Amino acid sequence: MEIDCIFCSIYAGEIPTEFLYRDDKCFVIRDINPVAQIHLLIIPTNHIEYMNDSPDRVNVVVHDLFSAAILVSESEGISESGYRLVINQKENSGQEIPHLHMHLLGGESLGPIG
Ligand code: AMP
Ligand code: ZN
Repeated sequence: MEIDCIFCSIYAGEIPTEFLYRDDKCFVIRDINPVAQIHLLIIPTNHIEYMNDSPDRVNVVVHDLFSAAILVSESEGISESGYRLVINQKENSGQEIPHLHMHLLGGESLGPIG
């Protein structure tokens, strides 16, 4: 495990956090600073820093992330109203935590992306 990674620490149980979903491949938590009524983070358990550095590992884990997105969109009751998936990568995206993760936003009308 990476020593200084907040998401690795959460998965290891070192930071008390509610898990909406968890298995050995990925886990889902609520974003601590939500920008939509529902704002979840879907996070691979393995510490992958940036997608472009680990394409083989990303190709494997992407299935798990999308499967978890489908599951939690249903458990949160937004599979019909809709949601947005976002992955930030590096500086121009404003990425804060360098452990690959997908934001799931919904629960309200999000407006155009641009
Ligand atoms: P990003 O900018 O794509 O790296 O997103 C990182 C997200 O993690 C931000 O939206 C933060 O609000 C969120 N975040 C940071 N610390 C925590 C935490 N302890 N629990 C839940 N979400 C967090
Ligand atoms: Zn990590």
